[in-house]
Amino acid sequence: MKNESKKLIVIGCGPKGTALGVKNKVLQDLGYNVPDVIIIEKENVGAHWDGKHGLTHGRLPLGSAPQKDIGYPYRSLFDKKVDKEMQKYSWNAYMIEKDYYVDWIDKGRLAPTHIEWAKYFQWAVKKAGVKVYKGEVVKINKEEDKWKVKFINGKANEVMGDGLVITGPGEPKQLPIYGIVEKKNSIPTVLDGKNFWQFVKHFRKLKNVKIALLGGGESAASIIVGLLDHVDIATVKVDLINNGHATVFTRNENSLDNMHFSDPTHWKLLTEEERIRFIKAARAGNFSVYAKNIIDEHYLNSWVSYKAVNMKYVKPLKIVAGSDKPGLVYSLADGSIKKSEYDFIISGIGFNALSFTKFMKDTNELTNKHDLEKKIQDDMSVKDIKPTLHLPMLSALNQGIGFSELTCLGLLADRILQPYVSKK
Ligand SMILES: Cc1cc2nc3c(=O)[nH]c(=O)nc-3n(C[C@H](O)[C@H](O)[C@H](O)COP(=O)(O)OP(=O)(O)OC[C@H]3O[C@@H](n4cnc5c(N)ncnc54)[C@H](O)[C@@H]3O)c2cc1C
Repeated sequence: MKNESKKLIVIGCGPKGTALGVKNKVLQDLGYNVPDVIIIEKENVGAHWDGKHGLTHGRLPLGSAPQKDIGYPYRSLFDKKVDKEMQKYSWNAYMIEKDYYVDWIDKGRLAPTHIEWAKYFQWAVKKAGVKVYKGEVVKINKEEDKWKVKFINGKANEVMGDGLVITGPGEPKQLPIYGIVEKKNSIPTVLDGKNFWQFVKHFRKLKNVKIALLGGGESAASIIVGLLDHVDIATVKVDLINNGHATVFTRNENSLDNMHFSDPTHWKLLTEEERIRFIKAARAGNFSVYAKNIIDEHYLNSWVSYKAVNMKYVKPLKIVAGSDKPGLVYSLADGSIKKSEYDFIISGIGFNALSFTKFMKDTNELTNKHDLEKKIQDDMSVKDIKPTLHLPMLSALNQGIGFSELTCLGLLADRILQPYVSKK
């Protein structure tokens, strides 16, 4: 039964938006009083995974296990019946309904591509009958004790909500750029972790170019795989620059790590210092084994005549554009500052989780990321901010690293919905 009085606005219908929408439907079907969950999506469900909206070309393999789906870890805070119902929307249920299951098992449960992952969310939203409002959010304001969200889909629409959930990693981070970015082979000579994918096909068969790739996490890992997939590796040189680090670390897939991603029960037993160390290791060292193997193939092959990838141990500072060879300015270990010219500079240096504040007039309380991270409560909302603002992308430090990723979507949905849901 709908508890019409409560409205929860969710911006974005990726993995988190889908998990919230489907869980709310399941709780309603099981007779709980649930809020009206209003999901607003500017593209389509799973847009950041379908290869048409940046962030990936869609053919990359998913890094985490697909069984960590919208119901995972199936330890619902409501009751066991909820876990049972959620299994109808699981990755396995999707594979069985699509009759891919046998093939997938026989092929050793290969990691699905990002495109397949996007289709899984589209299937779950459709199957559960979750309503998604198509539109681009352009303004977020407070009106007394409510959020007022304006979104455009040809015309302006406004919705009011008691709570607001921001999903998505935010806009890609970029170094300061001085000068106008020129184009070469119809590709901007300076790119980031989102728009690189909109131009990746133009890199096909590029010859004799020098590329700087900045970063050491998931974003840089997927970019280097995309690059090596397209460029002429015999003549293209890629300088991999991980902010002065000695290497790019590889994601450590051991169960003692994974358990903190799947279920944060023990997370609060760790000191803040230990949590920060774990998050740094898990995030900094985020080249999946898949990406590392691709790099190895193109790096240390002393028996082949070319070496497409080269590590550069410098700290990037800024980009000087304005010519067809943008300059990367960086500091060396001895503190001296140098500049090197490249044909293309690509920044895979992560995302700004606070970029949604551009839609807000009053952002005083939302400027310092680290302060906000320390204020994230069990329902992913920020302590002392009214009306309620849920920021799962900032929840790793206080609540557990899995909540900002894909690895405990079911528990995330429970935590966010719990304050709005009541038994009949
Ligand atoms: C390439 C890549 C691979 C990753 N792989 C993994 C992995 O394997 N495992 C893992 O745990 N984590 C992974 N992550 C990290 C993280 O889990 C993902 O970023 C995660 O998808 C976030 O899910 P989400 O639902 O919050 O956001 P997203 O899937 O990013 O969805 C956000 C949605 O918001 C919509 N949107 C944005 N702005 C607006 C607006 N103004 N109005 C309306 N809609 C808007 C977008 O169109 C998008 O559909 C990866 C991240 C990247 C970038």
